[in-house]
Amino acid sequence: MKILLTGGAGYIGSHTIIELYKAGHSVVVVDNLVNSNQEALRRVSKIIGEEFPFEKADIRDRESLDRLFGQYHIDAVINFAGLKAVGESVSKPLEYYENNMNGVFVLLDVMRRHGCKNIIFSSSATVYGDPAIIPITEECPKGQCTNPYGWTKSMLEQVLIDVQKADREWNVVLLRYFNPIGAHESGLIGENPNGIPNNLMPYITQTAVGLRKELGIFGNDYDTHDGTGVRDYIHVVDLARGHVAALKVFENRNEISSQRDEEKGLYIYNLGTGHGYSVLDVVKAFEKVNGVKIPYVIKERRPGDIATCYCNPSKAKEELGWEAQYGIEEMCRDSWRWQSQNPNGYESL
Ligand code: NAD
Ligand code: UDP
Repeated sequence: MKILLTGGAGYIGSHTIIELYKAGHSVVVVDNLVNSNQEALRRVSKIIGEEFPFEKADIRDRESLDRLFGQYHIDAVINFAGLKAVGESVSKPLEYYENNMNGVFVLLDVMRRHGCKNIIFSSSATVYGDPAIIPITEECPKGQCTNPYGWTKSMLEQVLIDVQKADREWNVVLLRYFNPIGAHESGLIGENPNGIPNNLMPYITQTAVGLRKELGIFGNDYDTHDGTGVRDYIHVVDLARGHVAALKVFENRNEISSQRDEEKGLYIYNLGTGHGYSVLDVVKAFEKVNGVKIPYVIKERRPGDIATCYCNPSKAKEELGWEAQYGIEEMCRDSWRWQSQNPNGYESL
């Protein structure tokens, strides 16, 4: 299949291109590079040994999208494009709603005009809010998000559900990612946050490489085995493969066994490992695998954080034949290989 990857120059998108090529697909990438660097795409080309089309454009730019759909026969879209910094979304809600929501509105409209009605949407475990059940299954009710970023995911899920309900030719796959970390085993591509990292693993690797003095651990009085927050970390390459597995829906949706006829066309999956690790578990695993010390201090809880979040990933296994292969040690090893080989990310060149 030929897949349009919006936001394909970013962290998850760049890894997904590789897995798509390995599975025999091809891609067209569109990204405005607001949170990424074209160097990532050059390195992906090096890894796969092939060039692929890239358009520097905003997905809110209808003309550019229209041109791309006219130029290439696109079978399906994977929408990674979106702003994702939780804290920034609190201070710039309008910018987040405008970018993330309008981007998808324009994209969906252009897609239907060109008769392409297959989409995979990057959603997040954040839509469960403080989850009603652990481990979280897809039946777990959606919850109250604690920031505008989370609401864009929750609301866009609803938009996609409604679009599919109105026109059953659409195939909509909502992938709810848990906590992606790790990097491609080559060490050539990885997560490259702008400024001070918000997320745990880039903060750990930047501390290890000397860019940050120490890790701040946000709270050690949660109701978890050691008091620190528990999450379901998933290797980004496993996550990327989850997208390849989800393409099965577009190839033959009738093969997805559990669906009743009236439900065909809408597919929701958790992508996680099903294992929960605390902040301290991750710090210890990182130190052990990589032989480096991570100095840390305990800080106040971070507003909006929950104690525990991990999923039951069995639906994706049963219906898509996908399950995560890598464990926490490989995730820590590959995150460190990327950071230590590229201390300043793509700016190292
Ligand atoms: P990322 O920021 O590395 O990638 C997103 C890409 O989208 C960037 O390259 C950015 O330049 C591009 N972009 C943003 N707005 C755009 C626009 N209007 N037009 C064109 N390009 C635009 O983020 P990522 O970690 O690769 O995440 C990919 C997707 O997965 C995002 O939608 C994110 O919200 C979602 N997600 C990420 C995580 C995570 O922890 N990384 C978890 C759950 C969901
Ligand atoms: N965390 C931390 N220090 C940091 C960043 C994160 O202690 O500098 C904790 C955070 O409180 C949570 C876990 O690490 O328990 C994962 O946070 P992250 O922001 O990576 O992902 P989230 O699950 O919040 O989306």
